[in-house]
Amino acid sequence: MAYAYDDQNIFAKILRGEIPNKTVLDTEHTLAFHDIAPQAPEHVLVIPKGAYVNFDHFAQAASEAEIVDFTRAIAAVCKELGVEPGEGGMGYRLLANSGEAGVQEVPHLHVHVVSGRPLGRMLQKQ
Ligand code: 5GP
Repeated sequence: MAYAYDDQNIFAKILRGEIPNKTVLDTEHTLAFHDIAPQAPEHVLVIPKGAYVNFDHFAQAASEAEIVDFTRAIAAVCKELGVEPGEGGMGYRLLANSGEAGVQEVPHLHVHVVSGRPLGRMLQKQ
């Protein structure tokens, strides 16, 4: 695995406090904040604080503490948004775009938590 992390990406700048964000959750290893261009009534980005390019990089290189914290943070965001189906919420979708085929714009791992309306098909037909 040979990932080079670009520390000038926009989420690295958010983590360094160089760019403001609307924080939803801030834990030891994870930050969650509102997407600047929401594609649904609820659209939150969850990112690890470590320098990981995408999900497979994170899953292979992160510590267990980072992985547990990140996973639990996603659940905490769902709870904060009130969208957990098990608690009567309307549900949500998690997305982690990676690389060219995934059309990843920002090269720092982020999971989109999207909800607030019926979200339609998972993928557009070509
Ligand atoms: P990707 O296409 O990489 O999966 O998603 C990148 C996401 O980052 C997009 O949904 C975009 O709106 C969001 N984004 C880009 N720049 C900023 C920013 O400066 N602040 C916030 N909060 N979100 C951003």
